[in-house]
Amino acid sequence: MTPALELQNLCFRYPDGTEALCGVSFAIGEGECVGLIGPNGAGKSTLMLHLNGILPERLNGAPSVFVSGRPLTTENLAAVRRDVGMLFQEPDDQLFCPTVFEDVAFGPQQFGLGGDALAARVSDALARAGIRGYEKRQPHHLSHGQKRRVCLAGVLACEPRVLVLDEPTSDLDPRGKRELKAVLRQIPATQLIATHDLELVVELCPRVIVMDEGRVVADGPTVTLLSDEALMLAHGLEKPHSLQHQHPHGSRHT
Ligand code: ADP
Ligand code: MG
Repeated sequence: MTPALELQNLCFRYPDGTEALCGVSFAIGEGECVGLIGPNGAGKSTLMLHLNGILPERLNGAPSVFVSGRPLTTENLAAVRRDVGMLFQEPDDQLFCPTVFEDVAFGPQQFGLGGDALAARVSDALARAGIRGYEKRQPHHLSHGQKRRVCLAGVLACEPRVLVLDEPTSDLDPRGKRELKAVLRQIPATQLIATHDLELVVELCPRVIVMDEGRVVADGPTVTLLSDEALMLAHGLEKPHSLQHQHPHGSRHT
């Protein structure tokens, strides 16, 4: 089956010369929920910004990002953006309208939804994100956690096939984290979740990809990799409490 998302030797260097991605390759199947972990500066956010073309590849060669088999090229950009929903690390980078309604409605409006159907889509997305009835609120007056939920509602309202989430639980209180996990668990879309919250990975993601210094250093079953104390320590991570009694067997290091 064609993977929902595939990277083939993705490389990226920032204009200042920082080599952020050095030949990243992996494929994620339809409906998979995969964690993306690694220390600060590993390249997780840079990778995610490539998945709907926010950061263009600086290579002249063959395309390296494929969504449902479709290469991410200039001609395919609009279609790929329709398929891939992206939750940014920083909510303030995502919110730009005077009301929550307008912000959440923005995406579906681009796809031609209007009137009652649009209002219903927005109210449903807000409910799923745990902020039912917030339509008239002003995003810049909300708390950080509430802003994050507005962003999530905006992404859900577009009904993406692939959901890409960058540090979705950072700055959320414990209840907020629990509620977000419940929301994500119910979403049938393919998901790639970059996070330092390893308990979230254990709970939601059967598979995890470990990155360090712009490279994939391990890719495999979450329980196996996160139980591997040596692997975790080597890449600035630690074995989560929930796996303290697990011992790794047969993990694949690359
Ligand atoms: P992560 O999300 O895993 O913490 P990032 O993708 O943010 O990692 O960063 C990867 C590397 O790229 C780091 O070395 C970081 O300093 C660098 N970097 C990130 N954004 C920029 C930028 N706008 N300009 C130059 N270097 C950047
Ligand atoms: Mg990041």
